[in-house]
Amino acid sequence: MKAAILAKPAPIGDSPLAIRDVAAPVAGPGEVLLRVRACGVCRTDLHIVEGELPPRRETVIPGHQIVGEIAGGATADLPVGMRVGVSWVGGVDGTCPYCKRGLENLCDSPTFTGYSVNGGYAEFASARADFVFPLPEALDGLHAAPLLCAGIVGFRSLRVAGVEPGDRVGLFGFGASAHLAISVLHAWKCPVYVSTRGASHRTLAESLGAAW
Ligand SMILES: [Zn+2]
Ligand SMILES: [Zn+2]
Repeated sequence: MKAAILAKPAPIGDSPLAIRDVAAPVAGPGEVLLRVRACGVCRTDLHIVEGELPPRRETVIPGHQIVGEIAGGATADLPVGMRVGVSWVGGVDGTCPYCKRGLENLCDSPTFTGYSVNGGYAEFASARADFVFPLPEALDGLHAAPLLCAGIVGFRSLRVAGVEPGDRVGLFGFGASAHLAISVLHAWKCPVYVSTRGASHRTLAESLGAAW
């Protein structure tokens, strides 16, 4: 299969990702094989590619906002051809104090998609079957992919903040997460107030319907 391989982190202008032919992954026990249809680009991918996050492997295929179709390791719940998403948290141990308290995002020994294991800048990717999300038909792959990182981050913030439909909500900063969360807030009929330094981000917030 073709894949974008990172062998040595370097500034993005030096093109550190190389498209190469490599063996396709095989679904191991408890894993599924995905035919990748789309994969988003996150700031964290740039941190990995440029070396701001220390390498975890000799080489890595980045990409942790994967939309793919089940192509191997299928089960009754995850049949061949079903469209699923994969996010940054590719697995957790399930046994550490955080996991036991339901805070698996803080797991002591997590697996990170496209960082500690290969990700989605490839024709195929493998993923833990218990860490893929079935995607609704109404959402196409290109629109679903960014929801798998920026979307999750923003939506989780709304949940943690206890936002209820109709609440007035302030967003501090207006990057990838907030510009997706504001659509959810509109659907919830929440007036949204945005505070952010970047002029382009303020313009974007206004164009997306921020009250202020
Ligand atoms: Zn990300
Ligand atoms: Zn854990």
